[in-house]
Amino acid sequence: MSEYQPLRPTKGPVGRLFAPVAGFGVTLGAMFRPTVTEQYPFEKVPPARRYHGRHQLNRYADGLEKCIGCELCAWACPADAIYVEGADNAEVVAETGGGQVSPGERYGRVYQINYLRCVFCGLCVEACPTRALTMSNDYELTGPTRAGMIYEKQDLLAPPAAGALAGPHPMVEGTTDTDYYQGKVTAPTAEQVAWVREHRPDDPTLAEAADVVDGRAAPPQPTQHTLRPSATKADYTRVAAEGGHAGDRRAGEAPEAAALVPGAAAPRNGGVR
Ligand code: SF4
Ligand code: SF4
Repeated sequence: MSEYQPLRPTKGPVGRLFAPVAGFGVTLGAMFRPTVTEQYPFEKVPPARRYHGRHQLNRYADGLEKCIGCELCAWACPADAIYVEGADNAEVVAETGGGQVSPGERYGRVYQINYLRCVFCGLCVEACPTRALTMSNDYELTGPTRAGMIYEKQDLLAPPAAGALAGPHPMVEGTTDTDYYQGKVTAPTAEQVAWVREHRPDDPTLAEAADVVDGRAAPPQPTQHTLRPSATKADYTRVAAEGGHAGDRRAGEAPEAAALVPGAAAPRNGGVR
């Protein structure tokens, strides 16, 4: 048997002399760096661009949902944190007189992620065949109840981008689900706007979509959850004095507390954001 030969180059005499104290080099280096104390939760420092935070279910440019309820994300999840139930778009078409939730045959009727189980590995995102599922940079996921940590579809679904039409509505005329997947649908069309105007004249997304169709506004851009805005120390002090949890929001909580997370959706399942 040959003698063991280390692959790393052996140290010279000076290197061997300082080897016992070499580890202190890290400590000494750190001692002279400026100290940075992050003032969380008053000031939120954005995490790295590819940070794995809360999930998001995305939409196509015309507002239809990308999720087809295939459950591949649920099967890929090592923590069994996702629950999906798919349903037929044909049922929605019959019910609404022509509208559908996503392009193609199926859509995700029930979509849940249990954030008490999720380890934020991102395998679900890799498994998704339509790029419906992505992860945002939002890391504020704690809450006071277990039930509230199960996020439902309405908590995860991105709102329609400015200029897109909320679903259900028909697909763009003459396209297939493959056209959608290949990015050939870039904005709502006049026919889709006319359909929504006929079936849901009060739809809040209608005006902006009509502007896009008429060329008065730019086509919709994809949306991404962003970090919630920083609250001031005074906000937190006031909410704590009122018996609230600074930064948290629960069902039935005072609107003043909800104001700490401006731009957030209405109180959701279990009440925890
Ligand atoms: S990030 Fe990982 S653990 Fe969390 S839901 Fe996706 S696959 Fe499951
Ligand atoms: S998120 Fe993607 S993988 Fe999961 S059910 Fe929807 S389409 Fe399928």
